[in-house]
Amino acid sequence: MVCPDCGDVGLGVDATLAVKPGWMWDEIDVQIIACRACAFRGVATYCESRRGSLDDEAVDHHGYRLPQPLLEVIERRIADCPNKRDETCTCIAHEHLGRSNAGGHFCGLDDAALRDRFVIAYREIVESSPP
Ligand SMILES: [Zn+2]
Ligand SMILES: [Zn+2]
Repeated sequence: MVCPDCGDVGLGVDATLAVKPGWMWDEIDVQIIACRACAFRGVATYCESRRGSLDDEAVDHHGYRLPQPLLEVIERRIADCPNKRDETCTCIAHEHLGRSNAGGHFCGLDDAALRDRFVIAYREIVESSPP
């Protein structure tokens, strides 16, 4: 994945927490993302819908820049979760990051979501060179 800060493709996932997807998605993972080339760390949401035909899979993968103290809290909570792949886990990370609003939409990152959100790209944009 492409780092939003330095553009290196070394952005990887450090930790994943599977949370309750609400009605919009079949799967939502909250991820801690980190760049191997620079100091960037952040949080991402990976949402996947498997309804419809196979080649019609919908994926929504967004990253968020968080203020350092909030990021540290989220990282620590995810690290403490005993069942990261279990969306029915009741630890504080799952309680907090797995929230849905009254309409059944995932809103676990709503306190951070509007701050600085970016689409996660999977490879560098290659400029096409003129012939
Ligand atoms: Zn980077
Ligand atoms: Zn948990």
